[in-house]
Amino acid sequence: MHDTMTALRLHAPGDVRLDTVPVPEPGPGEVLIKVHRCGICGTDLHIAKGNFPAPNLPLTLGHEFSGTVTTVAAGVVGVGTGDRVVVDINIACGHCYFCVRGQKLFCPDVSQLGVHRAGGLADYVVAPAANLHVLPERLSLNTATYVEPLACAIHGQDRIGIRTGDTVLILGGGPMGLAHIALSRLHGASKVMVSEPDPGRRALAGKFGADELINPFDTPLDEAVSDLTNGIGPDVVIEAVGSISTYETAVSVVRRGGKILAYGAAPQTASMSLRPFDVYAKELTIIGSYAGTYDTWPRAIALLAEGRFDPGLIVDSIRPLAEAVEALNGLATDRSIVKVHIQA
Ligand SMILES: [Zn+2]
Ligand SMILES: [Zn+2]
Repeated sequence: MHDTMTALRLHAPGDVRLDTVPVPEPGPGEVLIKVHRCGICGTDLHIAKGNFPAPNLPLTLGHEFSGTVTTVAAGVVGVGTGDRVVVDINIACGHCYFCVRGQKLFCPDVSQLGVHRAGGLADYVVAPAANLHVLPERLSLNTATYVEPLACAIHGQDRIGIRTGDTVLILGGGPMGLAHIALSRLHGASKVMVSEPDPGRRALAGKFGADELINPFDTPLDEAVSDLTNGIGPDVVIEAVGSISTYETAVSVVRRGGKILAYGAAPQTASMSLRPFDVYAKELTIIGSYAGTYDTWPRAIALLAEGRFDPGLIVDSIRPLAEAVEALNGLATDRSIVKVHIQA
């Protein structure tokens, strides 16, 4: 093994570089993983621009990765060299108010790989063995690279609780919107509507089983959705864009007594206008969903392993690590790219 490796590191907002750094050494209870692939997502763009808190710079980005364990440190049980794994990126103390209530995302000491400590956009990454999920044989490392985003979508679905027969409107046909189409159908939605201006993404949404594809620039969304729901409005709206206008749309189009899943990450300091009267008079339920952890990971692995969800349709750009800076910048400007995977 080499002493140094390549890593995509954020030095300051807007300053992302491909650096040569020492290969990290796993401490007690940790393992070293040779990264196979790592996805780039909208959150990475937010982090890179300084729109999402990343306190420890320089930071190696990347929180959606799969790989193979190459070194096991002292105190590790249940995982061995050569195991193919994904890593629940959320590391927490395990004994605070939130951790003991099964809400480790809110642990004051929570640390996420690729957000607070070095992530997977590198040749190697160190992770606590306790956060590893060993992959079943029939699940490829390529497909497993989608476990993290799918786990996040499963968490959102758990939070919003789609009921059999519900009508669902998904705002945004990006990688997460597509996952929500598939999961909403699995939950028994009677009609899945998707609002997405990009024609390529709308076509993909159709492939994932969306019943109605709406171009919000063609038809005012409130009219389109009203027509499709007999003037009632959708039972559930999933915001999977992270922009203020789509968040405001969610509030205006959801049916009276309906539910909104706040799924898309908006810039940290952005504000929306919300009339409390609407929440009151429409009896709205607005539910946030931040990230997947705990059993959403093995459940995502099970769905992928059983072929219930095929990320191969979403991943339309696979680039070598040497081109990671260009890939990140390209994703920020080119809407025709849906999902980039970096091959380490
Ligand atoms: Zn992500
Ligand atoms: Zn804690």
